[in-house]
Amino acid sequence: MKTVSSLLDDHWYERYKRISKLNFRSSIYDVTNRCNLRCKGCFFFSSGEHEAAAEENDIEKWHAFVEKEMERGVNLAILIGGEPTLCLDRIEAFYKRMPTFCATNGLIKVPRDRFPDMMVGLSLWGNPEDEATLRGKDTFKISSANYAGDPHTYYLYTITPKQLGKTEEIIRKIKDVGLKVHMQLLSNDEGVDGFSWKPEELIAIRDEMDAMLDAYRETVISCKYYHEIITTGQMLGRPFGWLECPSVTISKDNREPQPKRLINFIRWSSDLQTMHRCCTSETRDCSTCKDGAAHMSWVMVNKRAHMRSTKDFQNWIEVYEMFAKLYQFIPW
Ligand code: SF4
Ligand code: SF4
Repeated sequence: MKTVSSLLDDHWYERYKRISKLNFRSSIYDVTNRCNLRCKGCFFFSSGEHEAAAEENDIEKWHAFVEKEMERGVNLAILIGGEPTLCLDRIEAFYKRMPTFCATNGLIKVPRDRFPDMMVGLSLWGNPEDEATLRGKDTFKISSANYAGDPHTYYLYTITPKQLGKTEEIIRKIKDVGLKVHMQLLSNDEGVDGFSWKPEELIAIRDEMDAMLDAYRETVISCKYYHEIITTGQMLGRPFGWLECPSVTISKDNREPQPKRLINFIRWSSDLQTMHRCCTSETRDCSTCKDGAAHMSWVMVNKRAHMRSTKDFQNWIEVYEMFAKLYQFIPW
């Protein structure tokens, strides 16, 4: 068996050491079933997950719930919805206690006096025309005014096939407002016409993502191995999908044999009792799932498999670093 030190030179060993002490135990929380947008292809609404359970409105119950989550070992709360910023007191129940990430459409500004260093991910689905088509609004205009220059904010840029050849326009705009960006790919959960990936488009977008990373190293938080994994759906010759996905809620995981998975991961509904199958849509076909975080986690939980060569292990380190940066465990 190859060892870490036999695979890495001093530089890479230092990088490895920096991340090897991190021990993520994340779970995902639907903060609310409501949203101030209704995007075509939002997995939450398209799968009916907003109706899976009634919201818990008693804030004391949220505080008690987060305490119990900490006892369960969770040390990274990923808040989604619906739109979490509609319920700042619920966000606060997490933020007061543990590292917290809030995914938002950015239409409402999180008050920084109350949440000074909470990491915020702003969703963005393309240029103004595509955003108008899919989301009914040019959200960038509003979110960039709200968050320009904020050191604890980045754009979660969901690339669609219509963005081919246009990503630079977006990345430059993000750079110009002093924010970072992380790229992911649309899973067209509502089958919106013209927004499903063709094989040749996935090959082309991989090249474009690589080029963006090379050209905007200070702005783009990514690595080329992630681009490869997300566009091919393959890792070390293995296909992504239900049998390999690491982000399945522990109580819903009946797979045999069990793949490598996130330890004790749960995605909770906003009633604080109901659990969803995974980090995205219950009704999504796993074979076409493009979820960025699930792919990242897939790499991260398969450390040993990447220790077959120096290059593979460096790739693993880069994905781990990317995740750690996105959740503020190491600096950009
Ligand atoms: S803003 Fe987010 S939660 Fe709201 S509809 Fe759009 S994708 Fe869904
Ligand atoms: S839909 Fe995606 S994230 Fe959910 S179980 Fe399937 S592969 Fe995993």
